[in-house]
Amino acid sequence: MANICVFCGSQAGRHPEFQQAARQLAEFMASNNHTLVYGGGGTGIMGILADTMLQRGGRVVGVIPQHLARAELLHAGVADMRITVDMHERKATMHELADAYITLPGGYGTMEELFEAVTWAQLDLHARPIAVFNQHGLYDGLITLLDAMVQQQFLSQTSRNLLTVTDNIDALLGWVRKRCATS
Ligand code: AMP
Repeated sequence: MANICVFCGSQAGRHPEFQQAARQLAEFMASNNHTLVYGGGGTGIMGILADTMLQRGGRVVGVIPQHLARAELLHAGVADMRITVDMHERKATMHELADAYITLPGGYGTMEELFEAVTWAQLDLHARPIAVFNQHGLYDGLITLLDAMVQQQFLSQTSRNLLTVTDNIDALLGWVRKRCATS
């Protein structure tokens, strides 16, 4: 099954639904033998995702730069924790491991990781599928921006279509079933 690289917040977000969706995704991934590749943190949506995977017997690989590998940030329960020299090596390692990417709710770090993954896809450096979970309208402004980029001819429709956006957890799990089944 697939190594799914999940980008998500180091914060838990305002609504309990953010946390609930992370649990649902992790339960689904663990029961379908997918591996979670993620930033290695123990806080926020990251922590919930990894906790739920581990509780369900799922495989988790954390990839964290040494400057963040402190007890208060690192997830202590993840046995397969890759400590990298810096952020560049971390992202390279995450990309090497990944078969697919999912972006859950998050902030700057999550956006930076998403945009690197989709930019590299646009440059044909990889052909891995990328999903964005637009929960509670969090990414509505982002989608509006992308559509404006297409409209103003800074982004091709083909490149825009590299991102599959859904606001529905069942649709997201359906995407995993379809796009991550044969990896
Ligand atoms: P943010 O969306 O700004 O909360 O950042 C979350 C993303 O950046 C995650 O996908 C991580 O890969 C990385 N990241 C940010 N903060 C941390 C942290 N404290 N520990 C581990 N990874 C982090």
